[in-house]
Amino acid sequence: MSEKGLVYNINRSSFHDGPGIRTTVFLKGCPLNCIWCHNPESQQYEAQLSYNESKCINCRMCEQSCGNGVHNFVSGKHYVYFDKCKLSGKCIEVCELDALSIIGKSVSVEEVMDEVIKDKKFYDNSGGGITVSGGEPTVQIDFLVKLLEKCKQENIHTAIETCGYAKESNYKKIISLVNLFLFDYKITGKNRHKKYTGVSNELILSNLDFLCNRDANVILRCPIIPGINNCDEHYKAIADLSNKYKSILETHIMFYNNWGISKNKNIGNINYFETKMFSETEKASLVKKLKEFGVKKVSIG
Ligand code: SF4
Ligand code: SF4
Repeated sequence: MSEKGLVYNINRSSFHDGPGIRTTVFLKGCPLNCIWCHNPESQQYEAQLSYNESKCINCRMCEQSCGNGVHNFVSGKHYVYFDKCKLSGKCIEVCELDALSIIGKSVSVEEVMDEVIKDKKFYDNSGGGITVSGGEPTVQIDFLVKLLEKCKQENIHTAIETCGYAKESNYKKIISLVNLFLFDYKITGKNRHKKYTGVSNELILSNLDFLCNRDANVILRCPIIPGINNCDEHYKAIADLSNKYKSILETHIMFYNNWGISKNKNIGNINYFETKMFSETEKASLVKKLKEFGVKKVSIG
């Protein structure tokens, strides 16, 4: 039987998830819960309901179709009780404004490949390929392996975006199938890392060591979040890490953005993190500073 995976998005013509023109396949589920996460809809391991309030006209069709009491209207306001949702999809069928959707769909490797293969000539002409992202793609390791194997058969360049928090045995399974690891380095210090992502960074650093000692191609991806990790201690640690391994080809800085706010609202998360984004001038001066600290081949990711 064909392996199935829970996929929440397939983004063709992606230019930011590795070299060239790429198709990024987003798998659901993540062992971390970084407070700044701009893909909060990726974190849950199961499919889930999404409600976009800005599209809703309060027609109440969803209330009538749902047998589980998810949609409630009080004084003209639509309240959604996400925890009651059984994912029947009945409300989605009757919503003509596309205000409702289910995030996460069970699909086969072949179904994903049907999409990925459409842009093969663009990959070949641009040095692009597939990037498997998340969440954390290794949480669906069997599906990931099968998908990467298919890409190899089709001679498609493969990259994965990984938070680094997985069993070493999972990286062993994919190391020969992945041309490029986009590997996150988020916060320096295991306690601070745990405070802001939910897990310590010890396993992550150990996995980075594992990959680099086996000559995997790695791009270090470093989110910089105002008030969380924009400090000299962290910049120095990024510099040290980027120079420690020959395997680390480049360092990409991912500046905080607030795209996660509306997504959090859509899935019913009300306790989301929000802070001011860096200005373009601040970004430029931070990149300059990182270069002064000696960060290898640094650029804005
Ligand atoms: S590792 Fe990535 S997907 Fe997972 S919570 Fe952190 S930012 Fe979000
Ligand atoms: S059916 Fe759609 S537009 Fe109508 S109330 Fe429900 S979510 Fe809003």
